[in-house]
Amino acid sequence: MRWWIVLLVWLLGVSELSALNSIKGAHIVRGQLVLDFAKSVDTAEIRHFVLKGSSSIRYVFDFGETVLRKRSLAEKLSYSAVRSFRISQFNRSTVRVVIEVLHPYAVAHRKRTAHRYEILLPRGYSNKAGSPSDLFASLSVAEKKQKRRIKKHQKSAKLTTPHIKKPKKRYTVVIDPGHGGKDSGALGSSRRYMEKTVVLQIAKRVRTHLKRLGFRVYMTRSSNRYVKLRVRTHYANRKHADAFVSIHANAVGGRRRYSAEGIETYYLQVTRSARSKRIAALENSVVLHAKDRISKNVLLNLMTGPKIVMSNKLAIDVQRGMLRNARAKFRSVNDNGVRPAPFWVLVGAQMPAVLVETGYITHPKERKRLFDPRYQDALAKGIAEGISNYFANREKELE
Ligand SMILES: [Zn+2]
Repeated sequence: MRWWIVLLVWLLGVSELSALNSIKGAHIVRGQLVLDFAKSVDTAEIRHFVLKGSSSIRYVFDFGETVLRKRSLAEKLSYSAVRSFRISQFNRSTVRVVIEVLHPYAVAHRKRTAHRYEILLPRGYSNKAGSPSDLFASLSVAEKKQKRRIKKHQKSAKLTTPHIKKPKKRYTVVIDPGHGGKDSGALGSSRRYMEKTVVLQIAKRVRTHLKRLGFRVYMTRSSNRYVKLRVRTHYANRKHADAFVSIHANAVGGRRRYSAEGIETYYLQVTRSARSKRIAALENSVVLHAKDRISKNVLLNLMTGPKIVMSNKLAIDVQRGMLRNARAKFRSVNDNGVRPAPFWVLVGAQMPAVLVETGYITHPKERKRLFDPRYQDALAKGIAEGISNYFANREKELE
């Protein structure tokens, strides 16, 4: 609260406070925000309206003839489906309660008892933190909407012509070579072929190409060093990166090693596909072992519509760039497409984030290519071009 409001409230307190109602407490009970008042609530003094922003929606409730006795009522409030709560003295006799959410919902509110007012919150998510599939199981409605939006984009993306576009602004990209140090990632036929090695080589080439295109580039690791998954996205947030690109190589066991090959790009999303889950499980194994402390709130905050759509667009451009460049120099490069998957390394990124599986190091032919500098360079150039195109396209969209 501002000092002058404090002063006003105090000055008025002598004469008027006795006439005003006050909010004594706020808490969340069974999906509702419960407000406790000192006196009987006068519903004629309540105004409710909705403010729609570009990335969130605010449900606002103004309680007239009311003052706040405590400033920090909203501080302890936390609810998975609500981005933020605010309870503040709007003017000398109005308390404003704001519920900020990412998706609209049918808000209901009522006077429960004389001294109690209730506001319905959006449907919350499960509190159980378990395997990724548990965590992602409860997002079906938002998920369907996002899928529809993404499908629409994928259709329109097919119509654009493939060439390199340069964005006008200078963007920052964080390149994340997967694994490193004690975590070698996927292994080829012997320890001579390790994922951590090949992805670092490719990542360094991506850095070169991106710099050439005018980008500011940071890497989460530039040597054979172990970096926790959580630290990787934190780093990207700290650098205010505009995009986060994690680079990996794939692996399968048994007979499938002779058939599974190709490039795929993932973006963070709820998924029920067995294939995406299998690959996510492989890449996530380090964190799941370490029982990393990613809070469910952080996770769900990241699963929000606009960012998923942006990540999906970035994934499409990166995948297309890799295929175009690799196919220009090498024969029969498999396109495994753009897919959603619950990768933990992408969780926590505040910017569009994708994970590239550059190929299968278990496949005899593809492994050879992945360790071939020319192939690495083609992939890296493609990734850089894809990133460049993504930003150029986005600038055009915003014009
Ligand atoms: Zn990996």
